[in-house]
Amino acid sequence: MSTVTQAGISVDTASLPTDLFIGGAWVPGSTGKRIDVFDPSTEQKIASVADATVDDARAAVDAAFAAGPKWAATPPRDRAEILRRAFDLMSSRLEWFAELISLENGKALPDARGEARYAAEFFRWYAEEAVRINGEVSVAPSGTNRILVQYQPVGVSVLVTPWNFPAAMATRKIGPALAAGCTCILKPATETPLTAYAMAALLAEAGVPPAVVNVLTTSKAGAVVGTMLHDPRVRKLSFTGSTEVGRILLREAADNVVNCSMELGGNAPFVVFDDANLKDALDGAMIAKMRNGGEACTAANRFYVQRGIFDAFAKGLAERMSQLAVGVGYAPSTACGPLVNEASKRKVDELVTDAVGRGARVMLGGKPLDRAGYFYPPTVVVDVPKDATILREEIFGPVAVLVPFDTIDEAVTSANDTEYGLVAYVYTSDLAKGLAVSDRLESGMVALNRGLVSDPAAPFGGVKQSGLGREGGHEGLLAFLEAKYTAVSW
Ligand code: NAP
Repeated sequence: MSTVTQAGISVDTASLPTDLFIGGAWVPGSTGKRIDVFDPSTEQKIASVADATVDDARAAVDAAFAAGPKWAATPPRDRAEILRRAFDLMSSRLEWFAELISLENGKALPDARGEARYAAEFFRWYAEEAVRINGEVSVAPSGTNRILVQYQPVGVSVLVTPWNFPAAMATRKIGPALAAGCTCILKPATETPLTAYAMAALLAEAGVPPAVVNVLTTSKAGAVVGTMLHDPRVRKLSFTGSTEVGRILLREAADNVVNCSMELGGNAPFVVFDDANLKDALDGAMIAKMRNGGEACTAANRFYVQRGIFDAFAKGLAERMSQLAVGVGYAPSTACGPLVNEASKRKVDELVTDAVGRGARVMLGGKPLDRAGYFYPPTVVVDVPKDATILREEIFGPVAVLVPFDTIDEAVTSANDTEYGLVAYVYTSDLAKGLAVSDRLESGMVALNRGLVSDPAAPFGGVKQSGLGREGGHEGLLAFLEAKYTAVSW
């Protein structure tokens, strides 16, 4: 794993696993077709991975289903020890994983390092949770019997992940699935399959038995995932991705009434009150906006800034954003890498162009960079009218959109004026006000005087059209368990 193949990094793409991982074996897939993988920093092809068909998907379900009973009966302590070994192994290879993530996703190395650490932590957290699957015994109110509640693994789980956190979105699902005693089939995003296969190899090395974790890449996501959801042996879908695809999968899952956890899109408001500490608010804004180059479901999409602090905040944010070095994701000096592909770059450009066409003013950036790679520069836009598309849609890029407000009610109404409800950010030095505003925000998570909420120990998830269920924390484990109630006379 250490030949230099790409300027300055130690990932040897020629030695990465790229075939389907089914039943503990690397297999080329039933047709032998391949899907090319590109480096968004250079637009160069870096590898190709196997292209699974619906037959391969059925084979993966066969394998996961056959392995299910033994894995479910494996003592929780043994499952925990395997997850702990996965944590140790990944922790000893963080830099290698960071480079691989940066290579296929484009994110800057500091972001990729953060993701690799965050991803590994899900193995540690769920190693600890695996031995805490507690039930409950109570006396029925009638006094005639006891109510015994136990938790059992939900069964074969299909895990579908996006490209923006290729490692962390996989471990956030695999960790709790394995801790709960479920076998699984991971379908990573086609843009970023290499990290998923590297993760499968690491899990096998950590002692995960064959067929407990299977990984499939495919150019036919709809058909392959749809086939699995219509197989009655599949009992769980854990999906992270866009709301649009989430809606399709909820419909697909309805036929067999598959248990669904959906982590979908966001449109996070970032509310700054006059009494906020300006430096803290700017520090938080930079994390909330620029982590992952803006390609995060938690990314601050709309900045609502109270009028008294608006100019200072806008100037400070533009200054900080202007200092970010844009470049090849894995180059040591880069703070902001490229977007993942041409379509993402085009979409960001269209959103900014639409806002400017409606009268918005660009303080920084505002045009895609004319160079190889999918580069859009850090951008700050002010005077954005209410009807601009950029206030309604996920930007998924390094663009900060600033809108002034006067009253608390106006800030809350604007923040909630979206179909999404994943996370909201609030900055104020008045904690009582911050908590009161937090209560009124329609989002699954609130960051109060912080630019980051993600934590493996906390329940991550959204309300409204940002999703169903939670990942992380103890809640993330419950998502892969079914309550079994036994009425007992004794
Ligand atoms: P996406 O287009 O929805 O794709 C997500 C996954 O679904 C990919 O593996 C994709 O495969 C697959 N997929 C696409 N169409 C499908 C279909 N018809 N049936 C079954 N699977 C299908 O999302 P993305 O562009 O990769 O990721 C960005 C989105 O993810 C953003 O909206 C972001 O907010 C959201 N996200 C949410 C969270 C959260 O926790 N709430 C976290 C991260 C990202 P292909 O790659 O082959 O298309």
